[in-house]
Amino acid sequence: MLSALTDAFGERASVAQAVREHHGRDESPFDPQLPDAVVFARSTEDVQTIVRLCSQYNVPIIPYGNGSSLEGHLLAVQGGVSIDLSEMNRVLSINAEDLTVTVEPGISRKQLNEALRDTGLFFPIDPGADASIGGMSATRASGTNAVRYGTMRENVLSLTVVLADGRVIKTGTRARKSSAGYDLTRLFAGSEGTLGVITEITVRLYPQPEAFSAAVCAFPSMGDAVRAVIETIQIGVPIARVEFVDALAIRSINRHSNLTLREAPTLFFEFHGTEAGVKEQAELVQELAAQNGGEGFE
Ligand SMILES: Cc1cc2nc3c(=O)[nH]c(=O)nc-3n(C[C@H](O)[C@H](O)[C@H](O)COP(=O)(O)OP(=O)(O)OC[C@H]3O[C@@H](n4cnc5c(N)ncnc54)[C@H](O)[C@@H]3O)c2cc1C
Repeated sequence: MLSALTDAFGERASVAQAVREHHGRDESPFDPQLPDAVVFARSTEDVQTIVRLCSQYNVPIIPYGNGSSLEGHLLAVQGGVSIDLSEMNRVLSINAEDLTVTVEPGISRKQLNEALRDTGLFFPIDPGADASIGGMSATRASGTNAVRYGTMRENVLSLTVVLADGRVIKTGTRARKSSAGYDLTRLFAGSEGTLGVITEITVRLYPQPEAFSAAVCAFPSMGDAVRAVIETIQIGVPIARVEFVDALAIRSINRHSNLTLREAPTLFFEFHGTEAGVKEQAELVQELAAQNGGEGFE
């Protein structure tokens, strides 16, 4: 198997200890478990070649995006081959009229937004880390922007996937209106590399907001903060982000970053829209926060 991989990929197939160590861990607290080899794929055909060999030799496969997952996804518990997709990082087509973009899986969300900068569009899903779009599709990632823009579940429209036997399938289309049979896109989004290797993804885009603003507000209790958020969403304020941080975490943040935030349950908000819209959203949220005991809305 290893000599077949080396024949096909040369130096792009590595058994070097450092490379295997890098690919046998993620951001979880678990001890690394190393794959036997790492292959750097550059195309769907490369992935097919690796997958067919793994199928022939009955070897486990672990697709590798950016390694930012938190639950031990990448640990090679039975050894096998890690398929590193970071060199598949091209934007394949920007369809500005349809508000979609088709990319290779290794592109990171920041790279994608950099490529979109001059189009007036952006990709809003933000899990904190600079994850790959393939990894985010595979984990059905969410993040702080989910309140307004949803998660990968709502934003992945179509996938190209190499199945475990090397066949390539395409799920879904760019069309918003579709009722053609099983929703395979939703099956693969969140399958965490267990059903196939995603090699192309079409995701939704959104117009870049004209204005952004942010706010922070402390509350007497977690319940008060939660009620403020529920009421904000119930009256339809289109907040983009909202993140709750409890008093203990605020204390840690203060100590770590030398800040002087009030050590109380706290909400952080972000508003997207026109200048006037953002101002109105912030004012409404300030009012609702005050009604729920919010103090020091800034
Ligand atoms: C500080 C921090 C904050 C985070 N916050 C959030 C958050 O708010 N919400 C959230 O959802 N996540 C969060 N995460 C977790 C992480 O960013 C996401 O899970 C992200 O989607 C992983 O992407 P990745 O490219 O790093 O994938 P990897 O970590 O490389 O891989 C993740 C999984 O997807 C599989 N995979 C990767 N690429 C493919 C592919 N092309 N085809 C098939 N399978 C593939 C892998 O085999 C693995 O099982 C956070 C992580 C950090 C470090």
